[in-house]
Amino acid sequence: MLPLARMEKVIIVGSGCAGLTAAIYAARANLSPLVLEGRQPGGQLSTTTMVENFPGFPEGIDGPQLIMNMHRQAEKFGARFSYAEATDLEMMGDRLRLQADDEWLETQALIIASGASARYLGLESEEKLIGHGLTSCATCDGAFYRNVPVCVVGGGDSAAEEALFLTRFASKVYLIHRRDQLRASKIMADRVLACDKIEPIWNTVVTRYLPDDKGEMTAIELRNVATKEEKILPVACVFVAIGHDPNTKAFAGKLETDPDGYLLVRHLAESKHPGIFIAGDVADRVYKQAVTAAGSGCAAAIEAEKYLSGL
Ligand code: NAP
Repeated sequence: MLPLARMEKVIIVGSGCAGLTAAIYAARANLSPLVLEGRQPGGQLSTTTMVENFPGFPEGIDGPQLIMNMHRQAEKFGARFSYAEATDLEMMGDRLRLQADDEWLETQALIIASGASARYLGLESEEKLIGHGLTSCATCDGAFYRNVPVCVVGGGDSAAEEALFLTRFASKVYLIHRRDQLRASKIMADRVLACDKIEPIWNTVVTRYLPDDKGEMTAIELRNVATKEEKILPVACVFVAIGHDPNTKAFAGKLETDPDGYLLVRHLAESKHPGIFIAGDVADRVYKQAVTAAGSGCAAAIEAEKYLSGL
């Protein structure tokens, strides 16, 4: 681990797919970027198992392995890494100051790729079960659950989309929603309700995960919020789709966001503020895929390089 330098050319906040791709590009442009990895390096890929949809890996690749490869690739070209976490930002014209833990750093360009965190339900053993029958990404993990019953928790467009996607694999998809009406757009709700393989369970919340003695999900305990009735539902996987929270705490009130807190991007990866570039899920409420995050990380680094060469 390197001691933090006080003045930097490029600082990248975040070490998921977007941040590491930005680091590879910025490092290959001889900018020697400093990547602030934060306390949970690797972003969402580091919590998935097999990644089967990242181009170039026909046999699939383990999520943490993919992240480790990107990390090595960035390091090979001169990116530097610190576990420090960005906690505050000051913008004074062209001068950008970033607080990393308790040290203030100055940087000529800043790439924010701090990602988004899927919301989970906050139930017991949740962290241990992620990747063992509990996930927030049907696109990533759905294909592992063929011909078995699964459930999706949530009632928005994400839950509807995940449920429909999972019908390709699962024998049955229960859609567990805490109310009796979906929040999802009408077109998505209609599709869900017309699908034979999806069984909505209304007015219901998950109260407990029930893993087997190997720690793999086997069932969940449900409670009907209207009747208070409780029941056990056997499922091989729980897909939680109750929304994501973009990781923007350090930039709160400093950079423009949409009403849900996603950073706004003006053109490709540029923010409104000169020298600040944005990549990945922190600004993406639509695609949220590793490959789109990588693409925007690349764009952010190229834009940062262009900006620096014009300084
Ligand atoms: P969302 O619209 O905020 O929906 C979250 C859902 O989770 C709601 O139904 C909510 O219930 C439920 N929920 C929240 N907290 C919960 C908890 N603790 N326990 C149980 N249920 C909980 O989030 P989203 O579906 O991720 O969508 C986010 C945005 O992206 C939306 O604007 C959406 O339209 C958009 N999006 C669009 C598409 C598309 O167009 N294809 C796909 C995905 C997302 P309540 O309804 O009771 O609040």
